[in-house]
Amino acid sequence: MPDSVPAATAAQLDDPFAELRGPLAGTVRMRLEVADNAPLTPHMQRLVLTAPELADLTYRPGQDVMLLVAVDGNRPVRRRYTIRDLDTTRQRLTLDIVRHGDGPGERWVRSAQRGDTIEGIAPRGKVFVASAADWHLFAADESGLAAVFAMTGSLRPDARAAAFLEVPEAADEQKPDLPAGISLSWLAREGRPAGDPAALAAALQAAELPPGAGHVYLFGEARVVLALREVLAARGVPGEQVSAKAYWGRGKANAQHGEPARDS
Ligand SMILES: Cc1cc2nc3c(=O)[nH]c(=O)nc-3n(C[C@H](O)[C@H](O)[C@H](O)COP(=O)(O)OP(=O)(O)OC[C@H]3O[C@@H](n4cnc5c(N)ncnc54)[C@H](O)[C@@H]3O)c2cc1C
Repeated sequence: MPDSVPAATAAQLDDPFAELRGPLAGTVRMRLEVADNAPLTPHMQRLVLTAPELADLTYRPGQDVMLLVAVDGNRPVRRRYTIRDLDTTRQRLTLDIVRHGDGPGERWVRSAQRGDTIEGIAPRGKVFVASAADWHLFAADESGLAAVFAMTGSLRPDARAAAFLEVPEAADEQKPDLPAGISLSWLAREGRPAGDPAALAAALQAAELPPGAGHVYLFGEARVVLALREVLAARGVPGEQVSAKAYWGRGKANAQHGEPARDS
């Protein structure tokens, strides 16, 4: 597949990025070119995109890029991927994207070749590091790894943080360069289906909640995120100390605007 949406098709579309206002206010529209696209682990693809606008792009760790990955009739299909890294000097944006099976985002990423282009806007997203928190606790499936690593990578060197990270198999574990006070606990499903809350819920149930006012961050499948919120509520963690974002819904494609479908 060359470009995500050929120019002739794009001209016919309801252009979702024609007016960057409301939730899109403050974003920058770019035609991004694929600079690199290669497997990072068995189920994770590392996509590197470039565009001149990246030289001036600013973002907060945890924010994402929205890509126009396909069209459905005259309606553009968008998908969101967290910014793993941005090198403004080289104008390179790195995304780590799960290879989960099938879907318009998955198909585009799987086939994207160096030199292909894709329309996108950034930065999007409202979940940020709570910089005043005494400690940080993260729980995510593989779709949230980029967010967890971008956010923990931005913490002060003396920050106290722990992350529970579910991945398909042990070979999907990564060794990111993070400040010393951050502990990573990997939970490999080894054949169990994605989107089952049991393992992460058990980990959060048993997790140490240090003294002081901490902050918990949850990313991943919609019902998993909901179940994890319930675990935290039952443990007495106030809602304002939890930032949660559903990234996808088990058995249901995300909506055309990139969020999990409402009943996921
Ligand atoms: C703010 C935000 C940031 C995100 N950041 C990232 C990121 O950095 N990296 C990343 O990989 N994803 C990220 N996601 C999730 C990603 O956008 C979704 O997984 C999306 O569904 C992928 O689109 P698709 O077209 O490939 O699949 P869809 O068309 O949406 O879904 C097709 C089928 O695949 C299943 N499916 C979708 N995603 C997964 C998955 N991860 N695991 C197992 N089954 C799945 C669905 O249940 C459905 O049955 C983010 C989502 C949001 C909202």
